[in-house]
Formats: sequence, structure tokens, C-alpha cells
Amino acid sequence: MAVAVPESLKSNSRIGGGEQNFTVALRIRPLTEDEILQGAHPAAHKVEDNMLVLMDPAEDPDDILRVNRSREKQFVFDVTFDGNATQSDVYESTTKFLIDNVINGYNATVFAYGATGAGKTHTMLGTDEDPGIMVQALNDLFLEMERGSEDLAYKVTMSYLEIYNEMIRDLLTPSLGYLDLREDAKGNVQVAGISEVSARSTEEVMQMLVKGNRERTQESTAANAASSRSHAILQVTVQQRNRIRTTMQEIRTGKLFLIDLAGSERAANTHNRGKRMVEGAHINRSLLALGNCINALSDKNGPRYINYRDSKLTRLLKDALGGNCKTVMIAHISPASTQFEESRNTLVYADRAKHIKTKVRRNVTDVAYHIAQYTNIITELREEIMVL
Ligand code: ADP
Ligand code: MG
Repeated sequence: MAVAVPESLKSNSRIGGGEQNFTVALRIRPLTEDEILQGAHPAAHKVEDNMLVLMDPAEDPDDILRVNRSREKQFVFDVTFDGNATQSDVYESTTKFLIDNVINGYNATVFAYGATGAGKTHTMLGTDEDPGIMVQALNDLFLEMERGSEDLAYKVTMSYLEIYNEMIRDLLTPSLGYLDLREDAKGNVQVAGISEVSARSTEEVMQMLVKGNRERTQESTAANAASSRSHAILQVTVQQRNRIRTTMQEIRTGKLFLIDLAGSERAANTHNRGKRMVEGAHINRSLLALGNCINALSDKNGPRYINYRDSKLTRLLKDALGGNCKTVMIAHISPASTQFEESRNTLVYADRAKHIKTKVRRNVTDVAYHIAQYTNIITELREEIMVL
């Protein structure tokens, strides 16, 4: 398959300004054997690189409401994948072009959205044989840094965390217990006390992620045997500086968030009760807050007031959604006619996100500025001593 790279992700369009920084991709996974056994037929079809149609499977011709409704609806996204797309196709069209940005001090986020079973974890984590975006992205990061100029030094660290029931856990060091969000003086939101590990090889990364994923909170629900009710967030930080230390030195810090969101299906559909209901409400809270932010940001009359503080997820994604970040949303659907309602919900949600516009800038710490400030303080102290 020829790889279609959305305009918004081409490397020459990466720097700030008015161009599109929020990209929406859509992936339709293949029908599973279970779905075929249940008598499902494909209801979602990719028709062009950026377009798909969803067929309403309603077959009862006496159903007047449905007969009057068009059975086929078209959706257009920046890029669309179907069951023929490989993991590399998806990675290359959605994420590869962000790597260079991150190395040079820009922020980027890729998040997978969709109902449980739609293929989010397959896209983000994948398997040993068929690694997903998280592993491919880190692999490329390591390669790019090796190829980079010898004058530059890099430091790469990663954290892997889960938001479950509005509580944050470190998936690499679960013994740390629940962690809090903190905002620094510049308004950057961080997870206080999260472990940051450095990795040097792709194998090491995959091992860590697979181990981390086993720590994710999994519960079975009526709708799916294994349902992921937690949001998993991989945060990669790349610092770049000149090896030759000068007073004019800049440190560039780029952050890459790769996110496997919890299932977007509504609690009502899964006959949840008791504890599950509470979880459902919390998932809805984070995803609802995400939806509200997306709505506010994509308002036709320009962004309205955006309440990032409504959930942990939106606090953490503040920059990714409304600010200083290139962001890619990969929405996932099953093609199965039996999943029609979920697929339609996801497509409508993703369609709304297309209207988001953001501005991006490079994160640079000016070392000369800090040194000048310290020099001033030292001079003042000296003067005080002289007076004494
Ligand atoms: P989610 O994380 O959204 O709940 P998964 O990624 O676990 O969904 O996918 C559900 C099932 O479908 C898994 O068995 C997975 O291996 C399979 N699957 C998902 N996407 C694909 C794909 N593109 N190609 C082949 N199998 C897939
Ligand atoms: Mg999953």
C-alpha cells in the first residue's frame, strides 16, 4: 500500500504559525473470527485514502424511521486505514514525521481513541512480531539521534503511567502507589514522583512496555471478556544540547506523549453495575472532559473557554489539545455490522475533532539568560559584603 502522509504531518510544515497541528486519522481493523461467527458483515469501508462509508445495517424495510434515513454515511479524515494497512503504514502516516520535531524541542502527542476491541492497543503497543507506534517511534528516535550531528548530546527518558478511576499509577514502578499532578511555575503539568527511565534499545523498550501493560488495570465486563478501563500514557522526553559548553547554550526539550485511551463505549451499553458502574462513570468523566475540550476547541467561532481541570486526562493533555503541540488522534472502529452504533459514535466524535486548530512553538531553555541572572545575584551579594 502506498503510504499517504497527511499534509499536516509533512516535516516541512512543522513550525508554528497558522497551519494545521491537529490531525485526525481513522483505522478500521479486519473483521475478527468471532464477529464472523456471530454473523456480522462489514459495514465500514474505506473508499479513498481519506474517506470511508458506514452502512446502517438496519434491514427491516417496515421500519419507517430507518427507511427515511440515508443508509450510507461518508466521513472524511486526514488519512484512513482499513484491514489491509500494516503497522508500518499506520506508523509512517501518523507518527514518523513527529520524531524529528521532538528531537528539535517540539511537543507531539498521538492518541488512540475508540471502543474496547476496536484495535487501540494493537495500534499503540502491538506485538513482538508486529510492534505498534510506541515501539516504532522509540526505535526511530534512537536511529535519528545516532545519525545526528556529533556536536549534539541527547538524553532520552520515558515514563509509563495509567489513569484509572481518576487515579494515576506508575506502570513501570507500581509500588509507588497513587501519584498526584503538579503544575510548575510555567504552567506545565507533571506527574509528581513518577519514575523516569532511560532506554537504549528497541528491545528494552518493548520489554518495559509489555511488562507495564501487564500492570494495567483490566476488568471483564458483560460486553467484552477483557476490557481495558484505564488510559495508558507513555511519555518520552528528549533533551538536546551542544556538547561544547558555552554560555550561549540552549537546551531544547521535546516531549512525546503516546496514549492508549480507555474504551469509549458508554457504561449504559455494557450493563455495568456496582463497582463497574463507578469505573464507567470515571472513564466517562475523563473521556467526557476530553470530548468537552474537543468541542470547545473546535467551535466554529473560535475556541470557547476550555475547562482542562475537569479530569486528570485533560489536565495532563492540556498542551496536547490546546497549546504547544502537534497532535494526532487515531480513531479506531470495528468494521462489523454488529458494532454499528459504537462505530458511528466514534466517527462523529472524530469528525468533531477535525476542527481543532493549535499553535506550536519550540521549548528552549536559554542557559545564557540563567547565567546572567546568577551573575547579577552574585554581584549584588558581593556589593552587600563590601558594604558590611
Ligand atoms: P482495544 O485495545 O481497542 O480494546 P485491541 O487492540 O486489543 O483493542 O484489539 C482487539 C482484538 O483485535 C485483538 O485480538 C487484536 O489483536 C485484534 N486486532 C486489532 N487491530 C487489528 C489489526 N489492525 N489487525 C489484526 N488484528 C487486529
Ligand atoms: Mg486495549
